Amino acid sequence: MKNKANVVIIGGGVVGCSIAYNLAKKGVKDVVLLEKSYLSSGATGRCGAGVRQQWGTKQNCLLASESMHIFEHFEDILQIKRDIELKQKGYLLLAYSDKELEQFKKNIVVQHSLNIPSILLTPKEAKEIVSDLNIEKLVGAAYCAKDGHANPFQVTLGYAEAAQRLGVEINKFTEVKDIITKNNTALGVQTNKGFIECKKVVVAAGGWTQNIVKMAGLDLPIYSERHEILVTESVKNVLDPMLMSFSYNIYCQQEPNGSFIMGYGPENEPPSYNMESSWEFLETMSKKATWLLPPLKNIRVIRQWAGLYNISPDRQPIVSQINQLEGLYVACGFSGHGFMLAPAVGILMADIVTGDQLTYNVILDLERFNRGEIIEEPSVV
Ligand code: FAD
Repeated sequence: MKNKANVVIIGGGVVGCSIAYNLAKKGVKDVVLLEKSYLSSGATGRCGAGVRQQWGTKQNCLLASESMHIFEHFEDILQIKRDIELKQKGYLLLAYSDKELEQFKKNIVVQHSLNIPSILLTPKEAKEIVSDLNIEKLVGAAYCAKDGHANPFQVTLGYAEAAQRLGVEINKFTEVKDIITKNNTALGVQTNKGFIECKKVVVAAGGWTQNIVKMAGLDLPIYSERHEILVTESVKNVLDPMLMSFSYNIYCQQEPNGSFIMGYGPENEPPSYNMESSWEFLETMSKKATWLLPPLKNIRVIRQWAGLYNISPDRQPIVSQINQLEGLYVACGFSGHGFMLAPAVGILMADIVTGDQLTYNVILDLERFNRGEIIEEPSVV
């Protein structure tokens, strides 16, 4: 392991690996990435794998559609051979009230301004797309055929491989224990394998970001929360799009191998680093899923697990330099959408670290909370 670097990135999830690749692509030398476990061991390898462009704010639509472009041309752009198993079989967003449907209509106007090909559907039209869908109480739906899912492990490993090819050093099973500072400037990081002196530290440690910035004596307005998820046995393909409802609070997709992956946003889950599975989740999830797709009542669950959502005050990412400590940067607070935004976030953070003009006209800096500029995104799970 190098003992001196230009930039140290902490975290080997999809965000850290995307940042590493994009910094190296810009020509930044001596980039070192540190991951305390294996790549994708955090939220990335535990996520629902959904990638959607149907958002309500222009900046989320922009970051998601730019990311989708990169997912679509992943091997060409990164110049590697790796199938990220992108399946663009749509996202069907379900509306259970007129208010929700009105919001979908407004979102679609924003999406169309960026050429995202979303459409509004009646319940009957939604059932034409998913014949097993229970349309009782359904008021309407929004649908984008170009949304879908991809394999988060393959995407992360792809970024890591491309970054290494461009000279990034990736150290797995290397845990950051401390950030060394002097006169409000980052000087380096202490790991379980030694000290690395560096000019810049980028924290992309997902749910553990707060712990790491605390090492530098700082506190961010973020917390982590357990989100559970399960996978079923594989059966014949009956569900093409990702099904999602914000008000009924569920997402559910069928993988190419026939397994269903599903989860929901827990209510009253306390902030924690708990990643244990619960019986309560299994029971509630089963009820929700079998109401939405009645034939699922005969399917067996084969595994459940949990991961951490990292949540900011507006449930939107913080991709920012930290003014209180020269040389410190964070990419965190992704709630349930860090995988789908990671390609564009990597580009954005590389711009911020190098001081270049931002590729995307978005506001995700930490100081927005002090300015009172809360992002109002209506389409968050
Ligand atoms: P992580 O993947 O958590 O990576 C952070 C890494 O930092 C970890 O590997 C960790 O080991 C490492 N680390 C921590 N501390 C240290 C240390 N001290 N030293 C070194 N390394 C350290 N997003 C979507 O876009 N679509 C979805 O469908 C979706 N579904 C989700 C479902 C669930 C159940 C969960 C939990 C999340 C879901 N998300 C989804 C959100 C998405 O998974 C995250 O936003 C995204 O993976 C965040 O990536 P990351 O690289 O920032 O964090």
